[in-house]
Amino acid sequence: MLSVIIPAYNEEKCIKRAYDAINSLLTQNCIDSEFIFVDDGSDDQTYEMITELAADKENVSGLHFSRNFGKESAISAGLAAAGGDCAVVIDCDLQHPPEKIVEMYRMWEQGYEIVEGIKKERGNEKKMHSIGAKIFYSVISRMAGFDMANSSDFKLLDRKVIDVLNKMPERGFFRAISFWVGYNKTTVEYDVNKRVDGESKWSTKGLVKYAFSNISSYSTAPMQIVTALGVVMLIISVIFGIWALIDKIIGRALEGMTTVIIITIFIGSIIMISLGIIGYYIARIYEEIKGRPKYIISSSVRSTNKKTISIDS
Ligand code: UDP
Ligand code: MG
Repeated sequence: MLSVIIPAYNEEKCIKRAYDAINSLLTQNCIDSEFIFVDDGSDDQTYEMITELAADKENVSGLHFSRNFGKESAISAGLAAAGGDCAVVIDCDLQHPPEKIVEMYRMWEQGYEIVEGIKKERGNEKKMHSIGAKIFYSVISRMAGFDMANSSDFKLLDRKVIDVLNKMPERGFFRAISFWVGYNKTTVEYDVNKRVDGESKWSTKGLVKYAFSNISSYSTAPMQIVTALGVVMLIISVIFGIWALIDKIIGRALEGMTTVIIITIFIGSIIMISLGIIGYYIARIYEEIKGRPKYIISSSVRSTNKKTISIDS
């Protein structure tokens, strides 16, 4: 059985449409499935729509978060609830083409344990966002040590991988963790569709925050950059120190107030940046060490009506 995990935040108009599109496709291709909608603390009628759907159909369940915990948490909750032999994570807005699920499923049948959806085109998005995304992926790919360009959350995972992910306590970055775990992987390319309804939940500020938190969860390189900068500063200050001493010894008057100011400002700013970076990591350690749950499920629903099988005699 395939578990279809769909995170949804304020997607009241998309729930039914996503279910119908994906379910009919899977039925046509004889793929047994269950749907897990994770309502990430929506303010609209999303959860009501999911409840209705669960009452109406036989393979739908829904989780409702007590507040908005973010897509990463919604994916974690979905994976924890998945009962299938494999699971696919797909956006509610149908920007990930559902027909690719079938292709991914066939790959899984051939023995692949992770099938990554790779974006061919990034769809319609702000120029600034696509440039930002390019920089982000090149940085994180280098730091994490695997090429994640154009990767997305649209993936199919085997049961083994789901179990591993469920055991990981850290608040990870789903997209990268599935690279980190290894396993037998393949990719499926897809074009990003237009959003069917509603609007994107990402603001520029949100994306920048997301980028920083993901880079820091994959690499401590920024902290090492701080050490490197410190060493460079030390060398520079030794050179300047010797220079100043020689000036003093040969009795050349010191007129270099400007130099002093520049150096003071420079060192001050490096120290401040360094403290900021270290503080950021400490904040992350603090977040993890508190050990709070990644999400809180305040209610859940599950289809009760079973398919009635009629036997013709
Ligand atoms: N989403 C979520 N929690 C959030 C933000 C988004 O579960 O806090 C879901 C959203 O409902 C959608 C998917 O994540 O199914 C992708 O979100 P969106 O379409 O806003 O992102 P984009 O496609 O613009 O990257
Ligand atoms: Mg979208």
